[in-house]
Amino acid sequence: MSLLTLGVAACLVGGCLACAAASNGDGQHTQSEAELEARRRQMVDSQIRARGVRDPRVLAALEQVPRHRFVPPSELGTAYGDHPLAIGQGQTISQPYIVAYMSEALALDATDRVLEVGTGSGYQAAVLGELVAEVYTVEIVAELAQRAASVLRDLGYSNVHVREGDGYAGWPEHAPFDAVIVTAAPDHIPQPLVDQLAIGGRLVVPVGTNDQYLLVLTRTVDGLREESRLPVRFVPLTRRK
Ligand code: SAH
Repeated sequence: MSLLTLGVAACLVGGCLACAAASNGDGQHTQSEAELEARRRQMVDSQIRARGVRDPRVLAALEQVPRHRFVPPSELGTAYGDHPLAIGQGQTISQPYIVAYMSEALALDATDRVLEVGTGSGYQAAVLGELVAEVYTVEIVAELAQRAASVLRDLGYSNVHVREGDGYAGWPEHAPFDAVIVTAAPDHIPQPLVDQLAIGGRLVVPVGTNDQYLLVLTRTVDGLREESRLPVRFVPLTRRK
């Protein structure tokens, strides 16, 4: 079993469960994969199930994906905390509850093909990879796209495809998609993403600048059905000139 060594400061911040269990005598202690898994189960119970996410497949996916593999080593102690985390390049990995909420709002079937705009760490893409047949994810920051692709490959997510680019334009070569999720906030609904939705497809997107709302749109034969769900705070969707 692989052991991860955590600094004490990280533990104090994260309220590390392993502190009472193991110490290596020089001010540090170790945390096993089994302990990280226990923290992950606790995260799902206390942050996600307790707040009303019910889809059993989404809950199982959140229990399965090793979130700690998607955060920088300095953030290991807080990987399962109830908040977003910095992943470098001024970007963040979303709070676990928001990942679960958006995944549930996508109403996914196991056979679906999904587009994500804003790969970031790759964590949301991995959760989607547990839930559907194929995931196509686009990231505008080259370094993040490369890092996420490498973590996803190491973890064996061969159904998750990462591309560097401006996701405002979607990924037309693989359209239509059964669902599209945007994890950075545009100030309007990107029309290319609507165009790349299958009939019956769902688009989950945070829209706005200072005040952002999470919208759930469904493409019907007659046009778009739109629901505004909850206030959120995402990094802005940037554009490539
Ligand atoms: N889903 C991510 C978190 C997203 S943070 C995760 O699970 O970790 C938002 C990400 O969107 C950032 O990495 C940012 O660089 C990226 N982004 C912003 N504008 C974008 C665009 N136009 N196309 C693709 N990615 C974009």
